[in-house]
Amino acid sequence: MGCDIHLFVETRESASEPWRPVRVTIACGWCKDGSGRDGKPCYFCKGTQLEGGYQDRNYDTFAILANVRNGRGFAGCDTGDGFIPISEPRGLPADLSSALRQLREDSEKLEDEAHDAHYEKCKADFGCGWFGDHSHSWLSLRELLACDWSRTTKHRGMVSLGHWIKMREAGKAKPESYCGGASGPMVREVSETVADALRPCVKFSGDDHFEKLVEANWTREALSAWRNLTSYPEGDLVMWSRGEKALCVYVPMEWTDTYAESVGRFHSAFIPALVALGKSPDDVRIVFGFDS
Ligand SMILES: [Zn+2]
Repeated sequence: MGCDIHLFVETRESASEPWRPVRVTIACGWCKDGSGRDGKPCYFCKGTQLEGGYQDRNYDTFAILANVRNGRGFAGCDTGDGFIPISEPRGLPADLSSALRQLREDSEKLEDEAHDAHYEKCKADFGCGWFGDHSHSWLSLRELLACDWSRTTKHRGMVSLGHWIKMREAGKAKPESYCGGASGPMVREVSETVADALRPCVKFSGDDHFEKLVEANWTREALSAWRNLTSYPEGDLVMWSRGEKALCVYVPMEWTDTYAESVGRFHSAFIPALVALGKSPDDVRIVFGFDS
């Protein structure tokens, strides 16, 4: 199951004034110019090119904000060394704004259609419509700014052979696409040495999610690397190239990122949007929760 963040922004005029929710927007992460693939307005931002709040499913952000999914991805598999969180979940703040307190009460009471309408209205007003159901917490902008975003961590993931080849040929050291783990009768894990021996012999079509082998002409080096450096039968390669077996070949990798690189838009776009509110960092906070 995936995990999502549900995040609100609150500000106040001073320490003695009440908190109020505020809608903060960043550039839409799904489109470039407000239009969708079908020529209609982008489904996500409705053509405005802006999205409300922060909604990215980035587990590294969740780990830093609240120790959620820290170094663990789907089915608890190892995705790296993880992060030092800014804080364990603190629960919702005792002085939560009255508008968000109301939103919470309403979303628990309302049923089905009324609930959906309420959710959509809150999303339009505040960039978010629900608090999620676990690990509720809050952090001030001061705490977000005080985090050492230049600190590094090791990520681990399985990179498909086709993507690994693209990455190597582009001279890149880190994958853009990877998964936490892969299992199944057709999955084969090979080292980078073996992947490099297979590289000149194969051609793939499709994108990273639907990679398909279109051609394979094994060299002696490729066959020998497979035979000597994996525990899989050589027949695997032969059957794969004949289309008799659809293998999913993965290369386990480990790479280093800064915290800033790991969380992407949270650091490059969302924190700057909070700063741009122009208030004291003690008078801006995020209040959030997660689901699943
Ligand atoms: Zn958009």
